[in-house]
Amino acid sequence: MRAEKDSVVSFHYSVRDAADAAAEPFDDSRKRGEPMLALLGHGQLVAGVEKALAGREPGEKFEFDVPPAEGYGNYEEGLLQRVPKKYFRDPQRLKPGMTTVLQTRDGGQRMVTVRKVGMSSIDVDHNHPLAGKTLHFDVEVTAVRAAVPEELQHGHAHPAGGHAHA
Ligand code: ZN
Repeated sequence: MRAEKDSVVSFHYSVRDAADAAAEPFDDSRKRGEPMLALLGHGQLVAGVEKALAGREPGEKFEFDVPPAEGYGNYEEGLLQRVPKKYFRDPQRLKPGMTTVLQTRDGGQRMVTVRKVGMSSIDVDHNHPLAGKTLHFDVEVTAVRAAVPEELQHGHAHPAGGHAHA
């Protein structure tokens, strides 16, 4: 079947900076082994990837570019923050350019990029690491199926054998 809203699509992908054809991919599902699994039409994927997958069938291979507005947003100035080292799990390990998880005051977690490491604090950037970049995707669709009711209820795809989350 063809991918459409409420389909679950399995696909392999790699993604790199569209401005640099020789760049190392930011992410490559083949290196992780399993294809990505996603429910279409429920905001599980960035808009540009949803759009590119619509109407595709298993076996199709294609490449496309996703601009920031349909990807991870524009890079916003003013999202830098100086944070005491105690809020980081492993501050000694951190270097500029690395991404890490920051514990927030309300007990949540947030992915940030390290910009500067000081004596007692670390400057982090709250922009998504891929914000402001046009991304080049290389995709191969491996399977398409209709979502089961539970997946539609949750708004995301479940791997074969049911889901293992609360
Ligand atoms: Zn679920």
